[in-house]
Amino acid sequence: MIYNWLKNNLSGLFSKQCLLCLSPTNNKHLLCSDCERDLPENKSYCIICAIPFATTQPTQASLICGKCQKSPPFYTTSLIPHIYTSPLKQLISNLKFQGNLTHAPLLAQNFIRSIEHRKNNLPECIIPVPLHPQRLRERGFNQALELARIIARKLNIPLDYALCQRNKATPFQSGLSAKQRKQNLKNAFCVTKNHSYKHVAIFDDVVTTGTTVNELARQLKQSGVETIEVWAIARTPNKNN
Ligand SMILES: [Zn+2]
Ligand SMILES: [Zn+2]
Repeated sequence: MIYNWLKNNLSGLFSKQCLLCLSPTNNKHLLCSDCERDLPENKSYCIICAIPFATTQPTQASLICGKCQKSPPFYTTSLIPHIYTSPLKQLISNLKFQGNLTHAPLLAQNFIRSIEHRKNNLPECIIPVPLHPQRLRERGFNQALELARIIARKLNIPLDYALCQRNKATPFQSGLSAKQRKQNLKNAFCVTKNHSYKHVAIFDDVVTTGTTVNELARQLKQSGVETIEVWAIARTPNKNN
């Protein structure tokens, strides 16, 4: 009882530090209001793959990028609220490579805010991009699963992590050409069980070229899913812009 009293009355006196600028903050998700406002938003993007366009004006029309026009992916649309640049890049790589899972609720919360207005037509389940068991052993956790878990709970949508499996321990993709990435990821995933889903969302932390999510979408489509959305925290900027 005394402990609770102390906790309730003293917690406000000791504020925590912002994860990015280290200034004191009482914000629940450990980012001060200034830093939270500065997170790079994906405002103008392709309605299919969410690649950011060079303009900073919010998307007015339903624009589709050249790549999606030329060869449409297996997924229908993407919801990716941030651009993968500093300081968000820092938060995500802390989560991914240093195992700092304290950032997960913050990143998930920002994603949830971008979908809150959508009351209807939500997917039947969320499918986090699976890690190969070998990579999972090395890292100890799957960041896409950790983020998707929070989002699924908040949106009240089931999470189906057992539906898909990664067959190949693909080498790190960064630095590879688009063609090499594609080759690496060919048949990297499989659907492991029968299901009746017609509408699902694939979830990843960061979408770089879209090859990974598209390979997973290909398998899901072949297994009978009609509408596939791609959900992620951040999209890498288009190098050609
Ligand atoms: Zn800050
Ligand atoms: Zn596109």
